[in-house]
Amino acid sequence: MRKIYNFSAGPAVLPEEVLEQAREEMLDWHGSGMSVMEMSHRGKEFMSIVDKAESDLRELANIPANYKVLFLQGGASSQFAVVPMNLLEGNTQADYVHTGQWSKKAASEAGQYCSVHITASSEQDGFNSVPPLEQWHISSDTAYVHYTPNETIGGVEFQWTPDLSVAPGGNGNIPLVADMSSNFLSRPFDVSKFGLIYAGAQKNVGPAGLVIVIIREDLLAIPPLPRTPTMYRYKTHADQASMYNTPPTYAIYIMGLVMEWLKKQGGLVAIEQRNIAKAKLIYDLIDASSFYHCPVSRSDRSRMNIPFTLSDSGLDEVFLKQAQAHGLLQLKGHRSVGGMRASIYNAMPLEGVQTLATFMREFEKNHV
Ligand code: PMP
Repeated sequence: MRKIYNFSAGPAVLPEEVLEQAREEMLDWHGSGMSVMEMSHRGKEFMSIVDKAESDLRELANIPANYKVLFLQGGASSQFAVVPMNLLEGNTQADYVHTGQWSKKAASEAGQYCSVHITASSEQDGFNSVPPLEQWHISSDTAYVHYTPNETIGGVEFQWTPDLSVAPGGNGNIPLVADMSSNFLSRPFDVSKFGLIYAGAQKNVGPAGLVIVIIREDLLAIPPLPRTPTMYRYKTHADQASMYNTPPTYAIYIMGLVMEWLKKQGGLVAIEQRNIAKAKLIYDLIDASSFYHCPVSRSDRSRMNIPFTLSDSGLDEVFLKQAQAHGLLQLKGHRSVGGMRASIYNAMPLEGVQTLATFMREFEKNHV
């Protein structure tokens, strides 16, 4: 049993059972005599690992047969460029919903390849909410609409999936693209509503080094921009089942173990209930207190990343030091916003959140 709780935004806590299994299989995976790290990615052992990881992911997320799953490298940040390179299809414009720092990065990278139209923005309220669909304006000649379902830094999460067929200016044929890096598999989601989903693994799914892409097959027929590198073409990887080159094998293996763990937890419906309960513990405490403050509008608060401040920022260092002494690690807020941030992904146990809540109450009592 570990004695600490890790609230890092990512790379982040992984299920203890998964780490223990990986330790057990480290030197000799299933009698093969090899560590997974040492296996050929084309050998039958690794092929069985990747096939199982994909089929468990498909089962958990109920991925329809007309979607491909790709296991890529380069992190979610590489997708900021790869998405426009592959989906523009002769269009000169793409739409981006601006809800915070990650959507901004995605939009500015896309700006290298096309003109970016900001569909909607929550800038006027300091990125503390998501813009309602009625306020969106989709441009008439857009290639796709990109949004970030969970802003990891701002702690703002969409509690709904945008329906582009009813959004102002929209229609049902425009592909919806989502950067699900920080809430992937934390709740059920309907893949058929999306053209493309991408997610860096290092929050809810596994170690850094793997990015998962789920793409509707018809989008693979779009010719990429001229001179798009072979490695940045989705079709390259789709045609070769992510084996065009060496994929991040160990990260895929751990991801596969996380999928098995998720299935044992009861799948996405069950994990969502746990995530709701965990987040409620901290938000209720913050809302009942005048010592802690969360700036995010209540209906749009993230279940994964909870940013909060203390009424006196002079106490920040003491808070962090005492938290650490209680085994509560990595609570410091993002450098751009300060304060605190508790990231409570799928693998954060309820006891970890309860321990944090008890510590926060105690700290408040001692400092008001
Ligand atoms: N998008 C979101 C929503 C993120 O939280 C992050 C990482 N924190 C990224 C993109 C970038 O991911 P990577 O570091 O894997 O490129």
